[in-house]
Amino acid sequence: MHARPALTGPVEDYLKAIYELESRFGAAATSDVAHALDVAPASVTGMVRRLATQGYLDHVPYRGVQLTPCGRQAALRTIRRHRILESYLTGVLGYPWDRVHDEAERLEHAASDDLIERMAAALGHPTADPHGAPIPTADGLIEEQPHRTLAELPVGETARMLRVSDKNPSLLRYLAEIALQPGAEVTMVARAPFDGPITLRIGNSEPVVGPNLAAQVLVAAMPSSGLRSADASGSLPSTAASKPKSRKPTAR
Ligand SMILES: [Zn+2]
Repeated sequence: MHARPALTGPVEDYLKAIYELESRFGAAATSDVAHALDVAPASVTGMVRRLATQGYLDHVPYRGVQLTPCGRQAALRTIRRHRILESYLTGVLGYPWDRVHDEAERLEHAASDDLIERMAAALGHPTADPHGAPIPTADGLIEEQPHRTLAELPVGETARMLRVSDKNPSLLRYLAEIALQPGAEVTMVARAPFDGPITLRIGNSEPVVGPNLAAQVLVAAMPSSGLRSADASGSLPSTAASKPKSRKPTAR
């Protein structure tokens, strides 16, 4: 991989959007890139052709594009900058988590590598941003944790809130109101049938949320500890303590 010229802000945004789409769908379709970046499909076609010529993208017949190793490295570099900026804005400057995304979108193209690395060091080299998204290392390694959505959590089971998208400020404000933020323990108390309301327990409160919200929140298995389930005020089903981690979600 030879040295390449510094990328422009728009190119960094393209590579980042393609990385996110590729992570979800295996490849990024032009129409999805256009939607993600809020630009016309025709301009995506032109940019994609250019980035492929420059070695950042490969075409996948009928499916769109994928990042080359070089493109992936560039995307992860921007994602690292974005997530460290968000962490710094919340952790050091006291921004609420619903107000950091737009700031980071602008600053990620402007901040020097030195500034980003100093911010990371000041934060003690965090591994996740305020929304729970993993921060790629400076070497371009990223570790995605196994997860499922809160909507899939079986009734009676407790999980740890892992992550939510950073792109919807009003959703983030609401989640902060009900204390559903990364690291929080959340129990599925009840789920009404036919996509009805979902009752959760978070600390001492039992907020009721819609299935659409629950589908946007990612959760991870609790750190394995039989004690933790056993002493959870006896309100969990007795099978909870010995439940295997890989158990399938309840059929819907
Ligand atoms: Zn963000």
